Amino acid sequence: MEKMTTNEIRKKYLTFFNEKAHLVMDSFPLVPKDDKSLLLINAGMAPLKPYFTGVKVPPSKRVATCQKCIRTGDIDNVGRTKRHATFFEMLGNFSFGDYFKNEIIPWAWEFVTEELKIDKSKLYATVYLEDDEAFDLWKEKTDIDPTHIFRLGKEDNFWEIGVGPCGPCSEIHYYKGTDKITTSEEFVAASDRDEMTEFWNLVFTQFDKDENGVYHPLANPNIDTGMGLERMATIMQGVDSIFEIDILKNILGRVSEVTGRAYGESKEADVSMRIIADHSKSIAFLIGDGVLPSNEGRGYVLRRLLRRAARHGRVLGHEKQFLNRIVDAVMASYGEAYPDLLERREYIEKIVDLEEKKFHETLDAGMELLISFLNETEGDVFSGEHAFKLYDTYGFPLELTEEILDEKGIKLDKEAFKKEMESQRQRARAARGESSYMGSENTGVDVLQEEVVTAFTGYGSLTEEAEILRVYDDEALRETLEEGQEGYVVSDRTPFYAEMGGQVGDVGVISSDVFEALVLDTRKSKNGNTVHKVVVKKGTLSPGAALFTVEANVRKSTERNHTATHLLHKALKMVLGNHVNQAGSIVLPDKLRFDFNHFQPMTKDELKKVEDIVNSEVLMATPVITEVMSMSEAKSSGAMALFDEKYGEEVRVLSVGEFSKELCGGTHVKNSGEIGLFRITSEAGIASGVRRIEAVTGFNAIRLMNERERMLDEVQELVKATKNDIVQKVAQHLQEEKTLQKELDEIRKVQSLSFVDDLLAQKEVLEGMNLVRGEVFQVEASELREITEKVLDKLQSGVVVLGTKGEEKVSFSVMISKDLVKKGLHAGKLIKDVAAIAGGGGGGRPDMAQAGGKNPEKLEEALGKVSELLQSMV
Ligand code: ATP
Ligand code: MG
Repeated sequence: MEKMTTNEIRKKYLTFFNEKAHLVMDSFPLVPKDDKSLLLINAGMAPLKPYFTGVKVPPSKRVATCQKCIRTGDIDNVGRTKRHATFFEMLGNFSFGDYFKNEIIPWAWEFVTEELKIDKSKLYATVYLEDDEAFDLWKEKTDIDPTHIFRLGKEDNFWEIGVGPCGPCSEIHYYKGTDKITTSEEFVAASDRDEMTEFWNLVFTQFDKDENGVYHPLANPNIDTGMGLERMATIMQGVDSIFEIDILKNILGRVSEVTGRAYGESKEADVSMRIIADHSKSIAFLIGDGVLPSNEGRGYVLRRLLRRAARHGRVLGHEKQFLNRIVDAVMASYGEAYPDLLERREYIEKIVDLEEKKFHETLDAGMELLISFLNETEGDVFSGEHAFKLYDTYGFPLELTEEILDEKGIKLDKEAFKKEMESQRQRARAARGESSYMGSENTGVDVLQEEVVTAFTGYGSLTEEAEILRVYDDEALRETLEEGQEGYVVSDRTPFYAEMGGQVGDVGVISSDVFEALVLDTRKSKNGNTVHKVVVKKGTLSPGAALFTVEANVRKSTERNHTATHLLHKALKMVLGNHVNQAGSIVLPDKLRFDFNHFQPMTKDELKKVEDIVNSEVLMATPVITEVMSMSEAKSSGAMALFDEKYGEEVRVLSVGEFSKELCGGTHVKNSGEIGLFRITSEAGIASGVRRIEAVTGFNAIRLMNERERMLDEVQELVKATKNDIVQKVAQHLQEEKTLQKELDEIRKVQSLSFVDDLLAQKEVLEGMNLVRGEVFQVEASELREITEKVLDKLQSGVVVLGTKGEEKVSFSVMISKDLVKKGLHAGKLIKDVAAIAGGGGGGRPDMAQAGGKNPEKLEEALGKVSELLQSMV
């Protein structure tokens, strides 16, 4: 067996299957497309599911890939076993109803023994215990040692998830041990010892399991195989674990360099080093595929991995940020096979930097809190509420809290944590519901159950002679709608645009000789009908011919905003980078709102640039063109499409010159010049990694400018300035105010000194103690305190009790010198009784206290009682 690099193995595999008539496809991104059931791609077959289920026709019946995979389920195995990573590459070959067991078993054998030239005596195969066919094929079609074939049960050699396609599988293993393996028990024990490594799984998808658990044979069975590239490289390079193969050794070396720890020195440190090396790969690839750190879903996977890696840096004694230095080694190892990773380098590093910085900040704050919670913890169970607080306020991943608790032998009350989490989700849901645009309150739209096809004629014209086919209200179908009634109208054709793709529905008028109705909104019902919501103004509305007229001004305003949204989208990509993708959009007549992925607030400068780019496209007055074409044509023309939007076979592609090209079913201006003017009114974050821009165009932008101009005029008048010197004038006023404030402070200081002198002049001596009490006029509570302090300073030893009246309230301040406190006097107690007389309460320290009361007129009486109260204290 010759040594082989990881890159060579990858190439060999794909070439081998290419020569067996397989179409080699690039790795799909880690983020699944059109698959809500999966968070991240975790196997070669995952992105090919539509081909297996028949939803889509595969480009070839035989496909081979090297697929990037992330398995979060293996996170706890990483570093502890020799064969698990969170990020790894899976080589796979697939047959969509083409070849089957008869071909793949001998091919797999051919590949490992002839191409890779692995020593046959080290190879083992397992089959599902009832799968005689596979067992016989191994025996007859390969020259594997027949005593190396084992039959295992469902948990090892049968692939199924719930109902649907499933089947037995056959796994190929490499044995590093020396003992003879004779039974399946010994086989399993060797796997548990990490001596027997599974490296290739051949899945024979031959059944369709129904709800009752019955397995029906598939007419065209499929093949799906997966070989771990890193595991194969471990074998081919004769190393002990996947972490020591060529591409990972570099990364591990960098970890060593950065942390100053040698690999192999201590078992525990090795685990941390492997975790850092592994997670850094996942981090780089996840960000490269568009995932941003957040507290949910994929974003949370990323955050969790990144924070775990950063924390293990600390475990190794490295307190500073370091992950980008590891990511740099990841780039060096993977750049050749994944050039797009290099292209996004700067972006990836930026996100890693921001997130790691954030983590260190929160970690420091969170650790303190965690320790104080730990001190409060009695017994060995940590409160779920506390864990939630750490998670929610400090961004402490739950797993991190658990890991730290684990090290201390403390358990976590997970149920209580889950409860907190659930109630927070409900709060979030409720909050979303309130702010949702045009909520789903209007169910009347769906009263009509049948499907009625309506031709949309509103791209080109705003009026149309059409036939009203159905009329109904919130309850049922109706023959007519009378004057004053509200209801719904469905017609054979309409120029009214129904709310879709973020663009609001049109408003306008439907009329005939016998009625006139206002269209308040136009929407799609659940079964796809275009429904006009109307109120009858005059006459009786009933099925039959009518004139449909869209309110042109409103539509035009909406169109300005819609086209501007496309320009904005493109401009954002230009200014911020290609990671900017639409996350939501609402196009109204009076404004537009655009949500997009970005990880930090935009700077003023960036906003200005975006606005300038859009406005220059407006000023160029470029024709806006719509073309109808097939989806594949659209894609090859480079049009931007949204992932989660459903498009039909025929799509509309909207272009504004060469500047922007996007799939869109909405309505638009005919020329970018019609937008007139574009102004951004706000930019803010709405969720982790999602920003929102609101903007206005056309008359609304002009109105905004006019409004600002008017405000400026007002300010100008207030400060008696002209347009030219207004800034200077305002600055001057502010400066003057500062100077005046300073003077006022000086005067107050002098005044309070004179208060101090006056008060000292009223000094009494009570039982050998100095006592100063009195009223100070027109000062704030804080100033009162300062005066009290100054008086006591001068007295050196004594009691000072001062009060001041405000509107409908009175404040007290008491200070007692240390020597008298030692004798048993207490400012807090004294002030409590004094304030009580003036209708208040309060307390404080033995040497200093403040309090308030509601009855200013009782101030004198309260001060009068001080001597009595003091006497009772000594
Ligand atoms: P194991 O039992 O060792 O976790 P598995 O049964 O989960 O493996 P499969 O789901 O059959 O593995 O995946 C196919 C192949 O992908 C495996 O044969 C292995 O080579 C590779 N593989 C699976 N999980 C990992 C992982 N976490 N890291 C690296 N390679 C993996
Ligand atoms: Mg596994």
